[in-house]
Amino acid sequence: MKELKTVLNWLQSSKQTVILTGAGMSTESGIPDFRSSSGWWKNIDPQTVAHITALENNYDLFHEFYSMRLSTLDSCEPHDGHFILADWEKRGLVHTIATQNVDGFHAKAGNQNIAELHGSIQNFRCHRCESQATREAFLNKEKCPNCGGKLRPNVVLFGESLPEDSWMKALNAIREAELVIVIGTSLEVYPVNQLPMMTKGKTVFINKDITSNANGFDLVIEGKAKEILTNINLLLTH
Ligand code: NAD
Ligand code: ZN
Repeated sequence: MKELKTVLNWLQSSKQTVILTGAGMSTESGIPDFRSSSGWWKNIDPQTVAHITALENNYDLFHEFYSMRLSTLDSCEPHDGHFILADWEKRGLVHTIATQNVDGFHAKAGNQNIAELHGSIQNFRCHRCESQATREAFLNKEKCPNCGGKLRPNVVLFGESLPEDSWMKALNAIREAELVIVIGTSLEVYPVNQLPMMTKGKTVFINKDITSNANGFDLVIEGKAKEILTNINLLLTH
């Protein structure tokens, strides 16, 4: 495909490349995304249950949702697409991964320079006093031993602001980038959806559903993350 060759050419000539990923990067690992799933968990819009209000006012439901997501994650692994991005970092083709995903799969696949914009579901803390907690204590629905507060995964919930350090890391990398490749995000979640517009470099959008969110990109490729990355990588290695 002509577009894939173009991405490869851009990758090879760019001195600073940032990959921005969303939940669609991990659906081929078996982790459902939020917006294109055939059915929501218990028919509840994840935007309401992954919300700070749910944590504060409906902790049982919040806890059940994240326990379910943690057990889904236990049976999933990074796929070829994650490993290709890690290999591209080693080859000097990719410099930063900025991700909305909380699954930790980019790190698990071997990428080193990652901005986790929405935190990680694998770490836990007290919502009130911020002290660290264990996964076991969270799953057992224990209270914080320090202050009695609610335990939670270290993710950014809807209604919360992003960690300053990860945000600045992603923003600076994107401002300096010559190429930004956005993969598997609906670009509906603010403020991450602003990031692709912050670059002076070239922009590529790879998604299985192309909507108005693809407007403004230099190149748009309709397809699945694993498949498209595998095909670009074949052009690179053959
Ligand atoms: P989203 O659910 O809003 O959008 C996912 C997008 O990916 C959709 O446009 C969908 O069409 C596309 N997509 C699905 N499968 C794909 C594939 N195989 N290849 C290419 N594209 C594919 O996700 P978002 O934009 O990342 O925002 C959702 C929020 O939910 C984020 O804040 C994120 O933290 C959280 N979330 C994280 C995970 C995870 O860590 N794996 C999973 C679900 C939700
Ligand atoms: Zn506490």
